Amino acid sequence: MNKYIFVTGGVCSSLGKGVAASSLGALLEGRGLNVRMIKCDPYINVDAGTMSPYQHGEVYVTDDGGETDLDLGNYARFTGGPLSRANSITTGQVYEAVIRKEREGRYLGRCVQVIPHITDEIKSRILAVSKADADTDVVIVEIGGTVGDIESIPFLEAARQLIHEMGRANALSVHLTLIPEVGEGELKTKPTQHSVKSMQEQGIQPDVLICRAPVLLDEATRRKIALFTNVATEAVFTSYNVDTTIYEVPLLFFEQKLDQVVLKRLGVESRHADLQPWYAMMERFAARSGTVRIAIVGKYMDLHDSYKSVFEALFHAGLESRVAVELVKIDSSRLEDAEDADALLGTSAVDGVLVPGGFGQRGINGMVKAAAWARTHQIPYFGICLGMQVMVIDWARNVLGWEDADSTEFNQDTKHPVVSLLEDQVDVKNYGGTMRLGKWESVAEPDSRFFEAYREKIVSERHRHRYEFANTFRDEMAGSGLRLTGFTTDKSLVEAVEWPDHPWGVGVQFHPEFKSKPTAANPLFRDFIAAVKNVKGSYEGT
Ligand code: GLN
Repeated sequence: MNKYIFVTGGVCSSLGKGVAASSLGALLEGRGLNVRMIKCDPYINVDAGTMSPYQHGEVYVTDDGGETDLDLGNYARFTGGPLSRANSITTGQVYEAVIRKEREGRYLGRCVQVIPHITDEIKSRILAVSKADADTDVVIVEIGGTVGDIESIPFLEAARQLIHEMGRANALSVHLTLIPEVGEGELKTKPTQHSVKSMQEQGIQPDVLICRAPVLLDEATRRKIALFTNVATEAVFTSYNVDTTIYEVPLLFFEQKLDQVVLKRLGVESRHADLQPWYAMMERFAARSGTVRIAIVGKYMDLHDSYKSVFEALFHAGLESRVAVELVKIDSSRLEDAEDADALLGTSAVDGVLVPGGFGQRGINGMVKAAAWARTHQIPYFGICLGMQVMVIDWARNVLGWEDADSTEFNQDTKHPVVSLLEDQVDVKNYGGTMRLGKWESVAEPDSRFFEAYREKIVSERHRHRYEFANTFRDEMAGSGLRLTGFTTDKSLVEAVEWPDHPWGVGVQFHPEFKSKPTAANPLFRDFIAAVKNVKGSYEGT
């Protein structure tokens, strides 16, 4: 029988519930178990695809083209189990499904209600993930929001029913709370007591508490918390602040024996923990020396989470090169207004430039300026999706001299639409709609940075875009020196471009950031940062 762990949060948001759930997942995988991660999101949007990155952060894309919450990115960085759109359950999806069934008359005239119909739909979705693979051992279900929120009540109720139905030996409640510090280092347990009471009011007795606190809680504090909450002292853990990296959290939990307590409660026999990849990662972290500064020239710069996976992938790549990566976030519209790119990029002393994905016209010419600057100054450049399209526009405008060259996303009247709609180029029915989403294979040309990075001819990465390199300009682009180094398997679409005679200038139409891990950086990010370090070292004479 599969085991279930429900992770909830109390007191306030942003305590790192996603990192805690993922870290627990990593520990259980370290014990050789097959773990599946699910995020339940109380919002009414059907998926994150329509949410503004300014407000909600990045849209995380799964292999099957699911446009999901960024928490799935955390799962992908900490754990190795498959993730698809089914791993993200939103209130919107649940209600949509129930209302559709009601319209189809499937409830046989009964009054359709939150309990049992909405809760049944939630339960069946959780169980579907659990049963999708015969070899699943543990399912970790993270419930978004904070206990006490109106929106999350149906999810908590579904969790309560599942814990009751499966029995406590098969389903656990892990609750994350905050222990604030008041005055001179005085730690306050009262909010935790109240938070657990709110859980109990929902009919769920937490089995394990993870307390977010400035320092590791001492035995007396843990005992006090245990006394007030009906949780055993041995099951009170601390997620304390570390000045290293969030990727150390699995090891902090391991040292406190979180996995042992959880497995004992669930009656799971497992092998000894193998956390070698995590310890090795921390060794690489400790061995870093020096810093490289990477300009991220994008549109959604105010919210760190908008480019979450890109920033994490840069950090992972830094680990591989044993170098700290400092992010220099530049709103591309500032570059648009700047006298010249050198005034902003040159004086910021950036060692590399990355233009990430994005939609819409604002700031686009600033991105083109950044690409031109990196190209002409021999500064390593990495273009992702829109960042690749920007490379193509720069080349057409500044090398071929087609001043009006543009993507038809930004200018429909240009005589040089060097990037244009997918529909105009291929039969989009093949791609499931107007947006090319999810996993697609690309073929890497030999002798390219693209091939050098993956050391594979066929590369599978995820896509989320509507526009493409325009095939009508292939010959002129390639003829003038722009290297076309990646294609779809049928050669119908260009997937990667590279600058000739340049230390490292690569643009890819897909999003390699989604598959990067702290324990194994994505190959393109790895090589980008390696090139940046190399170039920086060469002019510093090191
Ligand atoms: N806006 C561009 C397109 O739709 C790029 C999308 C992206 O960067 N994800 O093709």
